[in-house]
Amino acid sequence: MEQIDILSLEKSALADAVAQMGEKSFRAGQIYDWLHVKRVRDFSEMSNLSAQFREELSRKFCVKHLKIKKRLVSSIDNTVKYLYELPDGEAVECVLMEYKHGNSLCISSQVGCKMGCKFCASTVAGWVRNLEPSEMLLQIYETERDSGRHVDSIVMMGIGEPLDNFDNVVKFLEILNAGGEGMSLRHLSLSTCGVVDKIYKLAELKLGVTLSVSLHAATDEKRGEIMPINHKYDLKTLMTACDDYFKATGRRISFEYSLIEGVNDTEQSAEELIKLIGKRNCHVNLIPINEIKEREFKKSRFVERFKKRLTDAGINATVRRTLGADINAACGQLRRDSENFPDN
Ligand code: SAH
Repeated sequence: MEQIDILSLEKSALADAVAQMGEKSFRAGQIYDWLHVKRVRDFSEMSNLSAQFREELSRKFCVKHLKIKKRLVSSIDNTVKYLYELPDGEAVECVLMEYKHGNSLCISSQVGCKMGCKFCASTVAGWVRNLEPSEMLLQIYETERDSGRHVDSIVMMGIGEPLDNFDNVVKFLEILNAGGEGMSLRHLSLSTCGVVDKIYKLAELKLGVTLSVSLHAATDEKRGEIMPINHKYDLKTLMTACDDYFKATGRRISFEYSLIEGVNDTEQSAEELIKLIGKRNCHVNLIPINEIKEREFKKSRFVERFKKRLTDAGINATVRRTLGADINAACGQLRRDSENFPDN
């Protein structure tokens, strides 16, 4: 019988499993605490449970863990990039960054990605599989354990499209919300290329998550050229879903806009973006594009000019600080490099 991945169970599912084993319901809380607060890796360490119950648990369930395949530490600003090996040998990356307000961790939600954004390294070799809720949680747990640093906020901006792995991502969010140190989901940003039907579903759940939407162009023609998702959900449909999310949750949307030379960084592109955003209460996060070797796209030289056009028009826009410049590897690049050159 295949063992159940216990770290992927929400509190209610764990309570059901414990009840089925004929144990009192408070045992589920104790196990949850061992797994998500004390973060033990083995049932034998759960010292307030009977030896017999621990034995039964270890037959029925497994506690997954991740192996550090690579760790790159920036000597400039304390940024740490991890390449984690998953239990089946696949790999994902995550990045720990230090800001004034605390440590932020960027995590992955899938192995590879189906979305096909033209400038993104994560999608070059396609999609392999979804991450389990446990594999998203473990990126946080293993990073805190290894670095000795507390993660204060999380961004789901690593490899993968979180809304294309909706059920597992929601379970992950629920476990995070209920367990551990009570991380408020207000400190979690979920970034999407614009999977509109799932934006509505997420809004309904009212988890309080901040939604970041990858815009990167403000006309359907331009966006369609660099982001295939735009052929399925055009900008009007996407912006309507964003407005619904704001109305339903009260959470201001953050729009991501990576500036690519000659593609979306001209004065005209800025005007188009100003028109698209209109009077919306939102934030625009400008990102100088990370050049990836599989594609020709070049970093824009006009980031500040672009930002000024937006702020002059009354739009709240900031340029994302570049962290870990000496260990720079665009999102998904570390994983691709390790596949191509496994001994690196
Ligand atoms: N799939 C999700 C989250 C992962 S990508 C999404 O599309 O939002 C996180 C962010 O990085 C997105 O805004 C994405 O468009 C952007 N991105 C991807 N490749 C990039 C690159 N080479 N340079 C700059 N930003 C990039």
